[in-house]
Amino acid sequence: AVGSVESVGPRALGALKHYFGYDAFRPGQEGVVNAIIQGRDALGVMPTGAGKSICYQIPATLLPGMTIVISPLISLMRDQVDALNDVGISAAFINTTQSPDEQDLVFAQALSGRIRLLYVAPERLETERFRTFASRVPISLVAVDEAHCVSQWGQDFRSSYLGIGDFLKALPTRPTVAAFTATATERVRRDIIGILGLRDPSVTVTGFDRANLYFDVIRMERKHKASWVASYIADHPDESGIVYCATRKEVESLAESLNIAVRELRAAKGEDATRIGTIAVAYHGGMSAETRGRAQRDFVTDRVPVVVATNAFGMGIDKSNVRYVIHHNMPESIEAYYQEAGRAGRDGEPSRCTLLWNESDIATRRRLLASDYENERLTAEEQEVVRASKRRLLNAMIGYCRTTDCLHEYMTRYFGEAGGAAVRDDGMCVGGCANCGNTFETVDVTDIARAISRCVHDVNQKVGSGKIVKVLRGSKAQDLNYLHPADLPTYGMLSETSEARIRDVLSQMATDGFLSISEGSMPIVRFGERAAETVAPNFHYEIKKIERKHAAKRAESPSVGSQ
Ligand code: ADP
Repeated sequence: AVGSVESVGPRALGALKHYFGYDAFRPGQEGVVNAIIQGRDALGVMPTGAGKSICYQIPATLLPGMTIVISPLISLMRDQVDALNDVGISAAFINTTQSPDEQDLVFAQALSGRIRLLYVAPERLETERFRTFASRVPISLVAVDEAHCVSQWGQDFRSSYLGIGDFLKALPTRPTVAAFTATATERVRRDIIGILGLRDPSVTVTGFDRANLYFDVIRMERKHKASWVASYIADHPDESGIVYCATRKEVESLAESLNIAVRELRAAKGEDATRIGTIAVAYHGGMSAETRGRAQRDFVTDRVPVVVATNAFGMGIDKSNVRYVIHHNMPESIEAYYQEAGRAGRDGEPSRCTLLWNESDIATRRRLLASDYENERLTAEEQEVVRASKRRLLNAMIGYCRTTDCLHEYMTRYFGEAGGAAVRDDGMCVGGCANCGNTFETVDVTDIARAISRCVHDVNQKVGSGKIVKVLRGSKAQDLNYLHPADLPTYGMLSETSEARIRDVLSQMATDGFLSISEGSMPIVRFGERAAETVAPNFHYEIKKIERKHAAKRAESPSVGSQ
């Protein structure tokens, strides 16, 4: 350990100013930097673009020994190294693109203490040559970038990351270890700490709020979605946007229909139709590389304002002036949504992220989940573990769709950063969201919720939602016989209410903690931690209404980001 917090701060700040010209650390950066400089392991969870690199680059300039940066992307190493050398920090990389002679040169420079940061891919650590080298040079810090790659439960597992722990153990002196990732689920975080062997790490989660984005969730029947999207695009003719769909088929049909519908809408407003170019291009993994490349170029260079895409679109695409991202279907996780929606407003200008969803999106996701992983070399048990974890991710996504809380806060809290959303004096979020702006309508479902809760009690918390709905609606189905339905006080209590409405309220009650639905192939409805509230005399319950018309008014207002 070197110095105290007081003595460390100014040096780090000085280095930040000296090399990068920045006057202050961003929230979170300083804590990570101080921890590392004092010799404490660290885990930094920050979204892409939040400034993770600085967190190990600044310490690297101050620590006595060298810093090894483990990074999975060989293609980015050269850029990072060039950028460092440009500001006067000596850096190099060792990777497979170099000849043995070039590698020898780097080793020699490092051994003579002339390199501050050395970038390597994780595979490199397993080679004898590198291990010998590493045992001969003083190493102060090992920084692990994209650290979620160690976790089998993350999205980009790399088996070579599992060797990092062994590499650290084999070093003559254990350096400080700092891990960085943008993925923050609890499970992945635990894996990073456990598998890399971080010792009492200082954990920093920060920067997940994107205060220039306006978030909006609209529940809408499928048949209205396309016309809603078309009118939004027609109302914003000079803006660039991405529309994400769940399947390739949907991408193609939506792109085609938008090109017709948006043109008609704009012509109806008095525009000369012959002067309106292509509105939307399709993009998905099933298209040829050439077609995809063309679609991407047309979009990035603003020749075409809208791209309709599957989640295959976005990786490595750098377009800062995307003004809106519309999700035509609900994504599989908050991680996926955050990443895709986050492609809006990279330039910091107000932008909008709208999610359209309905119950059938949920059903589709659940169905996909149930059949997922069957073909992979996993035992039945392992498959179930993966599915359970995916189910949790999905439930959080469903919660986002249903919540009436601030959407910024919901998201930052999900990433482990409670209170991370910037708020104004009046308590509303800075970026703005449909919930803080209260732009949704609700319906009173107090009686239905009470009946559901009583019914769960009647059947002793032992059946699934399908049977509860049947009991409440007074069904004569045979499979209810064993429950002796006629003796249940709630039998037929909601015979006038539609099955869909009852299911809706039940799902919402589970999201809000009044009920809890067990996971697995035969989900059982039980009471949640808030169940007692439903019998209180002042219990009142509302759910969000379904949007039936394409609410063009809402698409216009509130003016993005400004309220
Ligand atoms: P990440 O690795 O988290 O994706 P980067 O380290 O590439 O993010 O940083 C993203 C951008 O933010 C870079 O242009 C970087 O120079 C800038 N940046 C990082 N820290 C600061 C800071 N304290 N002040 C101003 N700009 C910063």
